[in-house]
Amino acid sequence: MSKPFRLSKSKVIAGRQCPKRLWLQIHRKEVATDTGNEVALAVGHEVGAAAQYLYPGGRLLGSHDDLPASLDNTRAWLDTRGPAVAFEATFEADSVLVMADIVERRRNRLHLVEVKASTSVKDYHRDDAAVQAHVLTRAGHEPASVSVRVIDNQFIYRGDGDYNGLFRDEDLTREAKARGNEAAGWIAMQQGVLAGAEPQVAMGAQCNTPYACEFQDYCLAQCGVARAEFPVEILPRAGKLANELKAQGYTDLRDVPAKLLGGNTVFLRMREASKTGKAFLDPAAAAELANAGWPRYYLDFEGVNPAVPRWAGTRPYQALPFQWSLHIQRADGSLEHRAYLHTAPDAPMRPAMEHLLAAIGKRGTVFVYNRAYEGSVLRGMAAMFPDLAERLVAIEKRFVDLLDITRRHYYHPDMKGSWSIKAVLPTIAPELDYANLGEVQEGGAAQQAFLEIIAPGTPAERRAQLAADLERYCAQDTLAMVKLAEVFAGGKRPKVAAR
Ligand code: SF4
Repeated sequence: MSKPFRLSKSKVIAGRQCPKRLWLQIHRKEVATDTGNEVALAVGHEVGAAAQYLYPGGRLLGSHDDLPASLDNTRAWLDTRGPAVAFEATFEADSVLVMADIVERRRNRLHLVEVKASTSVKDYHRDDAAVQAHVLTRAGHEPASVSVRVIDNQFIYRGDGDYNGLFRDEDLTREAKARGNEAAGWIAMQQGVLAGAEPQVAMGAQCNTPYACEFQDYCLAQCGVARAEFPVEILPRAGKLANELKAQGYTDLRDVPAKLLGGNTVFLRMREASKTGKAFLDPAAAAELANAGWPRYYLDFEGVNPAVPRWAGTRPYQALPFQWSLHIQRADGSLEHRAYLHTAPDAPMRPAMEHLLAAIGKRGTVFVYNRAYEGSVLRGMAAMFPDLAERLVAIEKRFVDLLDITRRHYYHPDMKGSWSIKAVLPTIAPELDYANLGEVQEGGAAQQAFLEIIAPGTPAERRAQLAADLERYCAQDTLAMVKLAEVFAGGKRPKVAAR
């Protein structure tokens, strides 16, 4: 019998997702490609730090950079009457090494707490707890309790540094312990997989659930399915249909017989545009736009939604605007640009809303691209600032959603199944390429840029650069809407006033 492979808890969970993913992580990690999970990792670290902050006397025992020291530190902590709370205590049994986010020692019994950045307990968190409990038990430290600590999104931060109430616990003790044999079975099966040749696993829903697998390009290439130019997966909200089509041998939308698309107008339109290479534009879009009153405002918010609230009166994951862009178009064709960007570390919401109210007037159409987001921001701000509420809510009543109009009336083959403004804009105004912008080219980068601007140690020059990039990015989003409305209406492009 060959020596077993040393696994971590995350490897076991990867193996639960797909045995091939685990095998590749151990034997072929060089074929992985970036899945862009950095933001999720950063949020996880921020939440973990907040959870530790609630135990001022806790001791950090483990580090992923030095596992032997982590094990030694944990042994020493277990053998002495040290602090009652430990972070990243590290245990090993049956060739599986786990780090526990928080371990509390009460009357010489260990209470295990796993901290998650989500607001509810997911199935894979339950698997995670089962593996933790199994390894601790096999290591001779059966936990007295096992719980998963998630964010309570009803928590409202008072701005006083007190985060008591940010989390809520779900007790999984009974379930985690009852699944010990199950966890042992996963580990044994995974050792068998790792000792063998690369497993043959068909791609499917598991490739993105619960995590985006880093080996998707490798598996696609291996199946000889170079990504189809118009893969059937681009059909919106049609994962089941896409799987059925693939099972019948159709990987490219252009090859799918029309009768297999269930009479869905959008799917048929996408198929036709992909086959002919020609955009579809329904004249009904022009008729809808003709009804929109003047002046016309094109509004876009950028916001952050911190898992751990930063400012008084805010909840976890609440959408908090720090920037807006507003193009104002008048019936004579003139176009003016207004904007706001908060660059100070204090709460950005109120000044952002006050400046917006001063700029947006009381009459006229307000175009947005995805009213769900802009509307939720306005309602959230109305709830937070009752004295501004009536005027903020009135803005939403003037909304016309260009995303909705685009979805119903426009499709270009280059959109490849995406109606995001970044996918639509190059098909109507290629000169406004987001790739030509600075460091900020999408919403995630905008959030990072803002957080860097307000971070205490950011040099003034860097702050100025990021602010300029943010201004250009947000302005482009609203200018894109202007262009879109212009093309849909079939009219001339308005003049752009110098900024
Ligand atoms: S891409 Fe899918 S099939 Fe391939 S290793 Fe990842 S999860 Fe498994």
